[in-house]
Amino acid sequence: MTRNLVRQLTGACLVGAFIFAGTGIGVAAHIKPPKPGKADFPISVVPVAGPISMLIGANGFTGGNVGVSSGPDGILIVDDKLQPYSHKLEARLDDLKTCTFCGDLKFVINTHWHGDHAGGNAYFGDEAVIVAHDNVRKLMSAPQEIKIFKMKIPASPDEALPVITYRNSVSVHFNGEEIRVIHYPNGHTDGDSVVHFTKSNVLHLGDHFFNGLFPFIDVENGGNVISMTRNIGEIIKTFPADVKIIPGHGPLGNMSDLKAMLVMMKATTKIVKDRMAAGKSLKEIQAAGFPEKWKSWSWRITTETWIAVIHASLKK
Ligand SMILES: [Zn+2]
Repeated sequence: MTRNLVRQLTGACLVGAFIFAGTGIGVAAHIKPPKPGKADFPISVVPVAGPISMLIGANGFTGGNVGVSSGPDGILIVDDKLQPYSHKLEARLDDLKTCTFCGDLKFVINTHWHGDHAGGNAYFGDEAVIVAHDNVRKLMSAPQEIKIFKMKIPASPDEALPVITYRNSVSVHFNGEEIRVIHYPNGHTDGDSVVHFTKSNVLHLGDHFFNGLFPFIDVENGGNVISMTRNIGEIIKTFPADVKIIPGHGPLGNMSDLKAMLVMMKATTKIVKDRMAAGKSLKEIQAAGFPEKWKSWSWRITTETWIAVIHASLKK
């Protein structure tokens, strides 16, 4: 029996137990994740630059976008999607192997703790070293709650927990480049990192970047619209103007797309702030909605949900 088969069987057993543990915003809101064994949305490969690819699948259904470095040192991934998609993710990683003996998955970097980004940790954790911010391990080690989606998330099993953690930043030297992992505080959660592939000139921003989509912010677990807006401004100033950007959700992007998100966040936050100052309730602000120009940003994170997230942030 191959190790992969053992892992598939183990994975199948884990699905029942952790489908809710591992789904993060995947369970959220209006759309249920695929049932165990019935995960059938494809995951496709988007070449980005040099050894870097992005894996994307049915936005929101398979989990966040995965960044992959595949080369002579083996494979490193940034995020690992929803737990039920681990076997599909593994198949795509096999496709990206550059040679027979250099295809092992060596590192998994988690941009944050949500199950649509770290849901595959239990599956891949026996093979790869998981790297994440101190607070990712802390949050995954204990039960959590995301009230806005009525979600209770049990503690993750040991094999899903990051084994290398850091407070500010860490570098992995892999496939011929320095891969910088940098923490940005109190953005989408209180444990977010962005990953910079320095030579390939690629960033994976995790859920600091929803490309053309309203973002979710986990206000109960340290996220906040004000500091996330500040972080995005910093990111725009810090990294090269021509960097390619893998967003947590949505298509491959660039600095113009990130700037568009920043403009949207500032404008919609101001609307909610002004209405709160005028004494409007959350329900009234939601009923009034946003101007037409922001309607196309509504997806699983609807205008209503985005208003609730901003409202919760501003109340803190
Ligand atoms: Zn997230």
